[in-house]
Amino acid sequence: MIYLNGDFMPIEEARIPVLDRGFIFGDGVYEVIPVYSRRPFRLAEHLRRLQHSLDGIRIKNPHSDAEWSGLLEQLIAANESDDQYLYLHITRGVAKRDHAFPKGVAPTVFIMSNPLLTPPQELLATGVAAITASDNRWLRCDIKAISLLPNILLRQMAVDVGAVETMLLREGFMTEGAASNIFVVKDGVLLAPPKNHLMLPGITYDVVLELAAAHDIPYEVREVSEYEVRTAQELLLTSSTKEIMPITRLDGKPVGDGSPGEVFTQLYQLYQNYKVTVMRGDTPAP
Ligand code: PMP
Repeated sequence: MIYLNGDFMPIEEARIPVLDRGFIFGDGVYEVIPVYSRRPFRLAEHLRRLQHSLDGIRIKNPHSDAEWSGLLEQLIAANESDDQYLYLHITRGVAKRDHAFPKGVAPTVFIMSNPLLTPPQELLATGVAAITASDNRWLRCDIKAISLLPNILLRQMAVDVGAVETMLLREGFMTEGAASNIFVVKDGVLLAPPKNHLMLPGITYDVVLELAAAHDIPYEVREVSEYEVRTAQELLLTSSTKEIMPITRLDGKPVGDGSPGEVFTQLYQLYQNYKVTVMRGDTPAP
């Protein structure tokens, strides 16, 4: 079951007019929210980021947080899996093709849910390969825009060589992955690039930094150079659907000793424990 503009229906029945500005221009934003044991993870934070994305492209939020929460609850109940990921998609609506904003047009609101399949243990045990590429996206990467053409092309470069992610470098510094945030472990310190217009402010990124702070894992939030990336002991990628994964090969060379490192192992375990407390419905301190 999906939700489209006020109605719940099977996805096969959902129809969008061809003049929807999402289809014509990629004029919209989206959000992805993981659901564990039928509870949305960090819902308030995801809805806050959605508001930031909507503000960034000047679409009025079509729903209050309470309304979003109610819609998501209904959709979670209407779908089979206990663990799901919700995809929320808002476009500027349907109008005659013209770049300028149309007047008096209601946004299109689409929500779907899919089963959440987190990375299998075999993959976590070996880690994954990544490549690097020059970050050729626009300068508002903090907006979760549905126009993802650069991200698509960049990630396909990884897939074409059998890797999982493309790490993006801009002017000698690491920004993020094509579809994830990236952390670097250098001299035993977890390094995270600062949240700014050059990267998506990841919800998982925040959780990782909170866990590091709460469990005395040394960390620094600052610009991370390409040199530090290439001489790192560990590289980690994070996203709502991939959680935390070790990158053990970069551009065909081993990262550190080529196997998942201590910081990954510790953070992965802390993240799983944290999830369990959330699923139980406790108000967890990280
Ligand atoms: N950066 C980009 C470009 C992404 O697409 C994503 C997630 N899809 C992330 C970072 C990670 O964000 P989150 O942890 O909120 O999923």
